[in-house]
Amino acid sequence: MTTISPGGHIGILGDGQLGRMMAIAAAEMGYFVHVFGPEEDSPAAQVSHRSTVASYSDRDALTAFAGSVDVVTLEFENIPTDTVEFLSGIVPVRPGAKMLEITQDRLFEKSFINNIGIGTANFANVESIDELVQAVKQIKAPAILKTRRLGYDGKGQVKITGASNLDDVWAGMKDTPSILEGLVNFKMEISVIVARNPAGETAAFCPVENRHKNHILDITLAPADIPAWLAEKAVEMAEKIATKIELVGLLAVEMFVTKDDQILVNELAPRPHNSGHWTIEGCATSQYRQAIRAVCGLPLGDPVRHSNAVMKNLIGDEVEAWGTLLEDPENSLHLYGKAEAREGRKMGHVTRLMPLTQKPKA
Ligand code: AMP
Repeated sequence: MTTISPGGHIGILGDGQLGRMMAIAAAEMGYFVHVFGPEEDSPAAQVSHRSTVASYSDRDALTAFAGSVDVVTLEFENIPTDTVEFLSGIVPVRPGAKMLEITQDRLFEKSFINNIGIGTANFANVESIDELVQAVKQIKAPAILKTRRLGYDGKGQVKITGASNLDDVWAGMKDTPSILEGLVNFKMEISVIVARNPAGETAAFCPVENRHKNHILDITLAPADIPAWLAEKAVEMAEKIATKIELVGLLAVEMFVTKDDQILVNELAPRPHNSGHWTIEGCATSQYRQAIRAVCGLPLGDPVRHSNAVMKNLIGDEVEAWGTLLEDPENSLHLYGKAEAREGRKMGHVTRLMPLTQKPKA
């Protein structure tokens, strides 16, 4: 079990804003970060000790990267598993290839979750028009057809109603292996972020409520306004998944709270998560520092929340409000160093804290 002490070198696969905030946390804790990703002058590279700009399949670049660090982690779960397997032959990668195999494929992910006794939406595998017709009979409309791989923020998803023409829907999927999921009539979307270190210790942040706009996370309210017993159940579920999947690192578990107070898991992300940005200001240990502690084999920090918080993502041209946001001294503004504010692009976020006695409001 390797412990990487401060002064050590951490490699991060992926070069976006999550890598940026992990790299900042690592630097604060005395580590050196080497970022590996495809983009020049990326959000993560701007704040790191070293960066390699290369494709995830460039074996020479990967070999040099692996040779320069003591441990590799990731900020993006769609890193090809062969890349992770290749690196694992040279240096520990946390979380590892097994975790990615499960979380990169919605069928494997939901099956894994059900197999350990945790509920999800009903689902069926769909690889042909005949299977789609069968699946709609079994799951029943309304339902959502999602590509098994490489979907995020609502990409690769089609809603199916009683009026849908299934031939047209399937033609639009271009034979991509998919799953059909029953539409969950939820009252709230929540997430729990849990860390686990190589010694098997876990620590979870409190459940938070997530509100989406155009399928992209818009606002997180910490904590979620749910009864204590439900919050405990959500945390237990996240810890169970982390332990059974043998996580080393951080795992975000996205969940639905149904109208009758059941919790169903929607998705797993084995990395820091958008819905945990508020922990930078709101908790004794942020999710980013916790990720570094977990992958370096250190004791975990206390995830306790010392303030309630509201986090608002700044998507696309919403970032232009930065000047107004800075006029309010209670706003903590984070910008990701992205030059161009394209539609749907996460450009930054702003967090506001309030006392534990005050309910966070959007
Ligand atoms: P996903 O890409 O699976 O995270 O889905 C993006 C968003 O679509 C979720 O955060 C939900 O708001 C919505 N969604 C996804 N799956 C379902 C479902 N089975 N029932 C209801 N809403 C869903």
